[in-house]
Amino acid sequence: MKTLRLAIVAPCYNEEDMLPLSAPRLVALMKQLMSDGKIAQDSFLLFVNDGSRDRTWEIIEQLHASEPICRGLDLSRNVGHQNAIMAGMEAAIEGPEGADGVITIDVDLQDPLECIPVMIDDYYEGYDVVYGVRSSRESDSFLKRFTAESFYKLQAALGLKTIYNHADFRFMTRRVIGELSKYEERNLYLRGIIPMIGFPSTTVEEVRAEREAGTTKYTLRKMLRLAFDGISSFSITPIYMILGLGWIFILIALGMAVYVIVSLVKGSVAQGWASLMLSIWLVGGIVMISIGLVGLYVGKVYMETKHRPRYHIKKRLG
Ligand code: UDP
Ligand code: MG
Repeated sequence: MKTLRLAIVAPCYNEEDMLPLSAPRLVALMKQLMSDGKIAQDSFLLFVNDGSRDRTWEIIEQLHASEPICRGLDLSRNVGHQNAIMAGMEAAIEGPEGADGVITIDVDLQDPLECIPVMIDDYYEGYDVVYGVRSSRESDSFLKRFTAESFYKLQAALGLKTIYNHADFRFMTRRVIGELSKYEERNLYLRGIIPMIGFPSTTVEEVRAEREAGTTKYTLRKMLRLAFDGISSFSITPIYMILGLGWIFILIALGMAVYVIVSLVKGSVAQGWASLMLSIWLVGGIVMISIGLVGLYVGKVYMETKHRPRYHIKKRLG
């Protein structure tokens, strides 16, 4: 088997604190892998600058100048983690000189580098996808761990085929990335799509480390967005839940009808104002929730039909 031409893609958003620490480690690892003959000499690192407002891009430029195996991709604005990864992977495999396989890793290196040689071994064994799976999240705060794990469980309950506790630390061959590019959706949720592609895959257990510098770039807002994209892009279960709720309310309304008829027969009609008002509000609320939910899906359809480009590349190094 031909030696693997590997690209390691790392998305960076305001990572001026972390990048100077992680880049040398990634470079050292690449050189080690090259001298071990595990990867080809023209393998490279690709740092994707996701519209940072700090010195991240300047640092990437300096890295490229001093270490030719460091390449850079500068996106015109912040498009979010998922789209930044996609931009990096597509750029990495482009052209005849493109990579045979790509490993995506967050630049904070919370996912251990020791897993990378294992992923490469799995590639030589014939796997197209190797998922990094977090076996321990002890270093994460209780809140982060709780929200992340509940999210994975909720996804499973809603029928999404995802890999439990796998984030975006993974190896993929060129052909899988080629297939992935055929998914034109804008609400990109890689963890949901990749298992659907279905090439030979395996997992590598990892222990997630603490972030050494800088703070998390996943604000609560970004996290909620990812969670909503993850669920609404792959599952219509929430719509069925609303339907179920609708049926329950129809049953309640039937009960109310019986009550009203009985009151009429008894001749005590003028009352009932309270129960009427109550049901108007309740039904109104339910209708509004339903319309809102349908609206969210319609909004997604609207966005998808635009077929907008996911990102714009401003500059390329190497
Ligand atoms: N990131 C990005 N764009 C964003 C937010 C984050 O490219 O809009 C990158 C960030 O630089 C990091 C990775 O995505 O390399 C994961 O972010 P972070 O480590 O802050 O998330 P956490 O590990 O806390 O979930
Ligand atoms: Mg992180």
